[in-house]
Amino acid sequence: MQEQHKKHIAILGSTGSIGTQALEVVAENEDFFEIEVLTAGNNASLLIEQAKTFKPNVVVIGAEDKYSEVFTALDPLGIKVYAGDNALASVVEMDSIDMVLTALVGYAGLLPTLNAIESGKNIALANKETLVVAGELVTNLAKEKGVNLYPVDSEHSAIFQCLAGEFHNPIEKIVLTASGGPFRSKDRDFLATVTKEQALKHPNWDMGAKITIDSATLMNKGLEVIEAKWLFGLTKEQIDVVVHPQSIIHSIVQFEDGSMKAQMGLPDMKLPIQYALGYPHRLPSNFPRFNFLNYPSLTFEEPNTKLFRNLALAYEAMERGGNIPCVLNAANEVVVGAFLEDKVSFLEMPDIVETCMSKISFIPSPDYDGLVQTDKETRILASELIY
Ligand code: NDP
Repeated sequence: MQEQHKKHIAILGSTGSIGTQALEVVAENEDFFEIEVLTAGNNASLLIEQAKTFKPNVVVIGAEDKYSEVFTALDPLGIKVYAGDNALASVVEMDSIDMVLTALVGYAGLLPTLNAIESGKNIALANKETLVVAGELVTNLAKEKGVNLYPVDSEHSAIFQCLAGEFHNPIEKIVLTASGGPFRSKDRDFLATVTKEQALKHPNWDMGAKITIDSATLMNKGLEVIEAKWLFGLTKEQIDVVVHPQSIIHSIVQFEDGSMKAQMGLPDMKLPIQYALGYPHRLPSNFPRFNFLNYPSLTFEEPNTKLFRNLALAYEAMERGGNIPCVLNAANEVVVGAFLEDKVSFLEMPDIVETCMSKISFIPSPDYDGLVQTDKETRILASELIY
């Protein structure tokens, strides 16, 4: 690769699963990347440790009560320290940033992502909830500002990689693969009794708690279906899901001549993170390589949407459109939080999401304020249904 300006990266959510893996990628490619901003929610000690290693210009800690701890540790090193949601939302506007990796979890990622796009920063998008809640707003703004959204989610990265060199060839359909999660072959009686400890043990991926529960309920795949609609401009009929328990084929594109292209590799999020940060270059890596002989059978099956209803609910939300995907997301964030506190059962989660989808008033073309209001109302309703 020819000599080039180092990409200056802001990582929102650097203390999480995606954030820490992104920093491993940066550490392995220090000739290509420079860390400009790191942000965390609560984990002040890890943020301080990361800042000492990567020497960003600025750090933001979401929890305001942790400000003095972070300031005391980093101010002597000349690192600027800010705290709170407003700082988190505005730090992305800094001129020195080339690319923002949105690795926050949940709805909290929406405003920083919109602000980053508004100020013309390319986005490496891990925070899928942003596109679920506000896909139309986000993609329209990105178009208007000439900003690219590079997918980090492994399935969407796979689609994006399959589309390289094919941008003028229409997509007939895509097939998103799903591992099926830890309860793929279980029945309703089993699911009625599962605990958060069981749900947090994903067979193939080591991820943050929220997405791990979403994978067990198939909500994660539902969120990804909506994410794919916005990233690739597809209709509901063009997005299929197939369960592929080995997680080797990360997703597939089918073109109008019937030809299918798939992207494959061992399940390791560092690869799609590196592809998004390094695009359009494929940077060398020492990630473990896939060997067909270790996987003599790659298998595929239909998702069971009667038992794992969240996937069907996500398709329904996508079809109804307007603020309904925002309702789906907010209700899901509330029920997942409650499940992690042992306050709802595994099978109650989709029931509450469905009730919220039927009760919150429909807004056909919500603006930002309409989405904020929808998120708020849904959280209140979902909480009432739980407690
Ligand atoms: P984690 O829970 O591991 O990390 C979340 C990060 O966001 C942490 O740095 C956390 O800070 C920060 N954070 C959380 N809430 C807030 C808030 N309200 N304000 C400020 N910061 C906050 O999540 P993951 O890394 O697993 O997931 C991040 C996103 O990437 C999600 O949208 C997920 O769906 C998506 N994704 C994740 C994959 C994975 O393999 N993990 C794969 C594909 C997509 P702290 O810990 O300091 O509190």
